Amino acid sequence: MARVLIVGAGLTGSLCAALLRKEAPHPVHLAVWDEAGDSGGRMSTARSPYNPQSTVDLGAQYITCTSHYAKHHQSFYDDLLALGILKPLTAPIEGMVMKEGDCNFMAPQGISSIIKHYLKESGADVCFRHCVTQINLRNDKWEVSKETGLPEQFDIVVLTMPVPQILQLQGDIANCESQPAPSTSESGGPLMECEFTVSPLQSGVPLMGHEFTVRPGLCRPPQRVGFLSWSVSSL
Ligand SMILES: Cc1cc2nc3c(=O)[nH]c(=O)nc-3n(C[C@H](O)[C@H](O)[C@H](O)COP(=O)(O)OP(=O)(O)OC[C@H]3O[C@@H](n4cnc5c(N)ncnc54)[C@H](O)[C@@H]3O)c2cc1C
Repeated sequence: MARVLIVGAGLTGSLCAALLRKEAPHPVHLAVWDEAGDSGGRMSTARSPYNPQSTVDLGAQYITCTSHYAKHHQSFYDDLLALGILKPLTAPIEGMVMKEGDCNFMAPQGISSIIKHYLKESGADVCFRHCVTQINLRNDKWEVSKETGLPEQFDIVVLTMPVPQILQLQGDIANCESQPAPSTSESGGPLMECEFTVSPLQSGVPLMGHEFTVRPGLCRPPQRVGFLSWSVSSL
């Protein structure tokens, strides 16, 4: 069974994990590592130690669904609304500029509930306080090192952290160059649109982010690493 590591337990990593679980043509072992102590990334929710009902969203606080994204991604919104994870945001926000057809949503249980939902759906093995420092190619596998503990090997690695953090990684991965990717996935589908792709490693291993779709491409040559990034509004 292919071992897939997703680095980052924010929106991108969690949704990527959930989509892989749902759409991968073969069973895969999914692991998600994050350097933080909890999931959410820039969509984290803090809770009062005195009253867990009292929460504050530390990054994104609401999601705007534009008519463009509604066309492609409506099912994502519908699922989250049906589960009560999202609710329409009806309260006015001072200074907000709304375009025709835009809808705003908020998350009553905290914005990180979206990420927790996708991680749960994915069934991935989620590990916190796993800060990835190096990625090397060893015997046709990606050997991923973290700040503490032994390195582990994976067939596929997906990096979902922000680009500056990707550029700090050491090892063979540091020999990659990033370049803009096509703005839509090969399939033209709504699932994974990469903003960046990574050019081939010196060894010639293909590292095309935009090939990392949830379609059958996943289990072709195993040595892939991709970088995926969404803004929330492109959910
Ligand atoms: C203050 C603020 C307000 C915002 N408001 C809105 C809003 O109202 N609406 C909206 O749509 N968007 C908003 N955004 C943008 C939105 O939050 C982000 O686009 C989205 O959360 C990005 O998700 P991501 O998973 O791509 O990245 P991130 O959330 O950054 O996730 C990356 C994860 O990678 C982990 N990581 C990084 N380096 C390593 C490493 N070496 N090893 C292991 N793990 C690592 C990080 O801990 C993090 O959890 C806001 C952002 C901020 C900061």
